[in-house]
Amino acid sequence: MLEVSHVTKKYGKVTACDDVSFRLEPGSVTVLLGPNGAGKSTLMKSVIGFLKFEGAITVGGYPNKTVEARRLLGYIPEMPSLYPNLTVSEHMEFLARAYKLTDYKGRIDELFRRFELEDKRRKFGDELSKGMQQKLNICLGLLPEPRVILLDEPMIGLDPHAIKELKLIIEELRSRGCTLLVSTHIIDSVDMLWDRALIMDAGQIRANVGREELAERGETLEQLFFDVTEGQSAGAPEEGTPE
Ligand code: ADP
Repeated sequence: MLEVSHVTKKYGKVTACDDVSFRLEPGSVTVLLGPNGAGKSTLMKSVIGFLKFEGAITVGGYPNKTVEARRLLGYIPEMPSLYPNLTVSEHMEFLARAYKLTDYKGRIDELFRRFELEDKRRKFGDELSKGMQQKLNICLGLLPEPRVILLDEPMIGLDPHAIKELKLIIEELRSRGCTLLVSTHIIDSVDMLWDRALIMDAGQIRANVGREELAERGETLEQLFFDVTEGQSAGAPEEGTPE
């Protein structure tokens, strides 16, 4: 459903993604783990079509910048960018019109109920707390019912209720056949959710492992993460590029 093939992205001399390849299947949750600066956000932004890169990315078989691919893709960024002069409800209406959605009112009500935004409908973007902005951001990402959903550090800033709700939603989307890629540097926040884990460090995918495969090896995700990230840097201290 999502295929990333030999993707390289450089910012000047910094290679943020270095020949990254992987493939994600429908009905799966993949967690993208890596320390700060590993290249996770750059990879996400490349997939969603925000950045130019070398290599190829397809969504449902379509190149990622085509209209067909964009219809399938959803992105929930780490930093919400809301309009200060639009209310919570107006943000959702605006998005629904941009995507030419029909029969979306009930879905907005349901998302607002689940993320406890019902009494915030008339608040303006710049009146919302950071956590509320993130909740609205999630509602906006989910409203068009994308089939491939990228979530960049989605739990940051959320209260416990919203975290619980988001985890439930992720499981529901998976059972409906969606493909989810969740990036985080907090392993605990996704521990129960993932089917496959990609561990990224210094722009490269250092491990790509299924949950069962890891369990058979008797390893935890945390152990693998530290083996891969700290093991590598401990082995090659002189070559480490400064952050
Ligand atoms: P992560 O999301 O894993 O924290 P990023 O993708 O944000 O990693 O960053 C990967 C590398 O690319 C880092 O070295 C970062 O400093 C660099 N980088 C990210 N965005 C830019 C940018 N717009 N311009 C220059 N360098 C960038």
